[in-house]
Amino acid sequence: MDLFEYQAKELFVKHGVPSSEGRVTDTAEDARAIAAEIGKPVMVKAQVKAGGRGKAGGVKYAATPDDAFTHAQNILGLDIKGHITKKILVAEAKDIAEEYYISFLLDRSNRTYLAMCSVEGGMEIEEVAATKPERLAKIAVDAVKGVDLAFARSIAEQGHLPAEVLDAAAVTIQKLWEVFVKEDATLVEVNPLVRTPQDEILALDGKVTLDENAEFRHADHEAFADKDATDPLELKAKENDLNYVKLDGEVGIIGNGAGLVMSTLDVVAYAGENHGGVKPANFLDIGGGASAEVMAAGLDVILGDSQVKSVFVNVFGGITACDAVANGIVKALEILGAEANKPLVVRLDGNKVDEGRQILVDAAHPLITLAQTMDEGADKAAELAAAK
Ligand code: GDP
Ligand code: MN
Repeated sequence: MDLFEYQAKELFVKHGVPSSEGRVTDTAEDARAIAAEIGKPVMVKAQVKAGGRGKAGGVKYAATPDDAFTHAQNILGLDIKGHITKKILVAEAKDIAEEYYISFLLDRSNRTYLAMCSVEGGMEIEEVAATKPERLAKIAVDAVKGVDLAFARSIAEQGHLPAEVLDAAAVTIQKLWEVFVKEDATLVEVNPLVRTPQDEILALDGKVTLDENAEFRHADHEAFADKDATDPLELKAKENDLNYVKLDGEVGIIGNGAGLVMSTLDVVAYAGENHGGVKPANFLDIGGGASAEVMAAGLDVILGDSQVKSVFVNVFGGITACDAVANGIVKALEILGAEANKPLVVRLDGNKVDEGRQILVDAAHPLITLAQTMDEGADKAAELAAAK
């Protein structure tokens, strides 16, 4: 999950990373009030999950509360790379002597963590990497050893930060590493990391990506979710603890186990080529316990997608045997009633497959078609989707 700048800065404050005081709002009147409260010149900053806000006119200096009001009016609603600005951060404007760059990230290709640091901050880091690669230090971070103060200082030194600020930079860099580890982030980036005329080192911008796989140990991270931007179907799935990703096709998919669902997507996409190019509409893994309630919740989400024309249920019975799954499907259709209005192709295999199929045969539900194999089921579901 990518965070807004103001959320990243909340984490910075929590871990003692020096930044600038500020508050977020969605009205220009409030922006004026916050500026008055701060009592000093402020920056009015668009809160969108895109870089280059400054260049796009989304970051403005306001000398007075009235200026803050005017800038806020201009920035709210501003389109920055396709992101409409709904919130602004009003933060004390700091005096800047120099701008640096620092980040910690997960380096997947080298299976380690990476620190990147440069004395050339403020501009886009891709540009520094392209034009002055020798000014951008890339330093592997051992996950077990982590970053202590001495190592943090060495990162700053290798990034060519000036000697006078190495000690102060080390303190801030070490704390940013704390943010990275303690919050389970995969990215913590500060650009610019600034040097003030008093040689303080402050994080004036922040980009943080949190590892959603670690959500279970961060109850407080849930508050960061951007409900406005989340697909309503994905939100509904999440509320039901379903692993759902909306895609852009017509064949709804339900399966158990991520691997089986992934290959079902492939098989349906392949089958769709023979049926007018229909495609899978989603990824949905209902996991091990395919109870009637879980099946109903899954079907409910999928049938709520108006693009869906047919549904392919592809389940391999294991601990939850096929008879339980079949009963789950029948009950789910009962629970949904008239809301279940699209054809379902069901392929069952594995533990108690014969019992499972018999239950569906006996139910003789008009929406259900049984398939013997995965390929047959994919073909049938694609055909039904194309016929609609
Ligand atoms: P970005 O363009 O999306 O990366 O947004 P930033 O938050 O990095 O702001 C862009 C630029 O605005 C920075 O590189 C700074 O030059 C400037 N800026 C941001 N905050 C301040 C501040 O507190 N004081 C001053 N003087 N300039 C700032
Ligand atoms: Mn920036």
